[in-house]
Amino acid sequence: SIGVAIGNGSTHASDDLLRSADTAMYAVKEKGRDGWQFFNESLQEKARLRLSITNGLRNAVERNELSVRFQPIVAADSGRIMGAELLLRWHPPEGEISPAIFIPIAEMTGSIVPIGTWVFRQACRAEAQWRQRWGEQAPYLSVNLSARQLDAATLVDEFAAIMAESGADPKRLLLEITETALMADVETNLRVLRRLADLGLRVAVDDFGTGYSSLAQLTRLPVDVLKIDRAFVDGIDKSPESRTVIRAVIGLGRALGLKLVAEGVENAAQRRELCALGCDFIQGYYFHRPLTEQDFIDTLAREQKEMLPGDQVGLYFAIYVSQSVQQPLPSQTLDAIVQQARTANLANGITGCLIVQDGCFMQMLEGERTAVLALMDKIRADPRHSGVRIVIEGAAKRRVFAEWGMVLRDLTQGVLGRSDPGDIDFAPWQQHHISLLDLGQDARTSYAYITGYAGGQPGFN
Ligand code: C2E
Ligand code: CA
Ligand code: CA
Repeated sequence: SIGVAIGNGSTHASDDLLRSADTAMYAVKEKGRDGWQFFNESLQEKARLRLSITNGLRNAVERNELSVRFQPIVAADSGRIMGAELLLRWHPPEGEISPAIFIPIAEMTGSIVPIGTWVFRQACRAEAQWRQRWGEQAPYLSVNLSARQLDAATLVDEFAAIMAESGADPKRLLLEITETALMADVETNLRVLRRLADLGLRVAVDDFGTGYSSLAQLTRLPVDVLKIDRAFVDGIDKSPESRTVIRAVIGLGRALGLKLVAEGVENAAQRRELCALGCDFIQGYYFHRPLTEQDFIDTLAREQKEMLPGDQVGLYFAIYVSQSVQQPLPSQTLDAIVQQARTANLANGITGCLIVQDGCFMQMLEGERTAVLALMDKIRADPRHSGVRIVIEGAAKRRVFAEWGMVLRDLTQGVLGRSDPGDIDFAPWQQHHISLLDLGQDARTSYAYITGYAGGQPGFN
């Protein structure tokens, strides 16, 4: 790494020039080393700011300049608050500085170690107090942990002492470590994380998808949660690549038995999509911004008052059977119906599956209760359907069908018509034809039959 400063013997002192070259060299190192950089005024300004932040952070805890915000983490389907992430704020007398700026500096200089301990103490205090207030319904607390803290020999004992002192329940505390930090030195991290896990603490991989996880390593680490980085959530409705990554991460998380949290959710479309893909928890401005502790408590109290016990704000599903008025049903008409349903369902957050056989329909609809019920009303009023009959409806925990477009199966040719049955002769059985209307007499069979078509969809089992 090379820093270059140019001066003139009559106007620049050698010490100043060396310092400038040094500043330029640090800029190169920061950008990943192995390069060169000329010194300039903006580097000077950055170096000055860094120095003042470095000095300021040293006494930030003693001077009471730190505080934490609590950003609610909600259940993806119901939107209910399940947890909170502690986000650090620093207010020096000169005015607030973003954690995106001061945290990297604190990590570099090591002051993140005492500051991190202070944050953990806040989390423990809040956990104990909230549990006293809300009991088992109390939200869990998520704390960021930097790699620098994992290096400190005293971390585990210190955390154990703080938990004992505050009476915090370790099972309700989640430690977030970025994927990059975690994978940088797996052996050391593994040793420390195992000891933290032995205390009962849970571990999350933060900003998942931005680093380079080795799957073999990931399975060795005592990890409970994956947090999908905001960058992918942001691209979910814009880039197919982001969607693919999210789908893959959710599939991976499920396979490993982990919970999934999506970060940075800012609109309804992103939330719906994540919900459909099977994400468990959501954090983002769409639901809540980071709040002061008092605002957090008020928000949760309000939410609990508004939600009557047994209130179905969550997911709802219905399976119905009906007959097509037009018989036989031309395939173009069917295509048009499905196309229309796709657009409408996408807008209403409804997923599902439509099976057609010999002019009969069986359809499953999943979505928010009001949306499903409104759609059922529309179908009943639709002149193309006759004999609309609900087989089963009710609350659901998770979507069975991930796609917004309705999955369509036309079984008019018979199930076996599509695939080669091999050397078994099914001919005598063809006369006993399955009728969707008959099937609809039994809710359990109908449910098993229609949800069976979800096989092969990612993230659902
Ligand atoms: P992070 O851990 O990824 O935290 C999430 C960041 O995303 C927070 O920024 C949060 O305010 C922001 N965020 C949440 N929802 C949305 C959203 O819908 N849209 C957008 N655009 N942003 C959203 P914040 O508070 O500025 O924190 C920045 C980073 O600083 C954190 O990223 C974390 O890496 C670090 N940090 C914060 N507090 C601590 C701490 O106590 N210890 C350590 N080691 N790092 C911390
Ligand atoms: Ca975090
Ligand atoms: Ca994050």
